[in-house]
Amino acid sequence: MPQLITRADALERIQAERGDAACLMCAIRDRAAGPTYVVHEDKDQLVILPRYVRRWGQLMVMPAAHVTTFTEIPEATWARSNALALRAARVAEVIFKPRRCYLASTGSSAGELTQSSTHLHIHVIPLHDPDDRPADVFSWTDGVYVAEHEEWEELKRRVIENWV
Ligand SMILES: [Zn+2]
Repeated sequence: MPQLITRADALERIQAERGDAACLMCAIRDRAAGPTYVVHEDKDQLVILPRYVRRWGQLMVMPAAHVTTFTEIPEATWARSNALALRAARVAEVIFKPRRCYLASTGSSAGELTQSSTHLHIHVIPLHDPDDRPADVFSWTDGVYVAEHEEWEELKRRVIENWV
């Protein structure tokens, strides 16, 4: 069962895994931020199961290149990220039968933070609770879910099986 840990614990773990990497997303891309559960990868894009999540089944799409603004990202690259986010959301709908999926590109206005990278990315988050609000889903105040290696592998297998 995925386990809820505190925000402070999560930040400490991420910091330890990431070391002094300047960008968390680039570190994930380079497999330099702890185990990485990849469900799709090509030369321009990566889709993973992030290991610190607010809702089980959360997926994340990122362009491989380090790009932090919508001004500089090539339109075709961002279009491809969004096409993959659509596929990820469809897979989440098939597997989890959520009430809804949130898709969001959040990042940080304060610069590169431990849990919120400026490197553009898209969260795909299945929701089950009718009272879920963005403020709950995008804040780590109430803790973060983590899981065991076998649980991530099982989830990865289900996502890849349903990836179309
Ligand atoms: Zn980066």
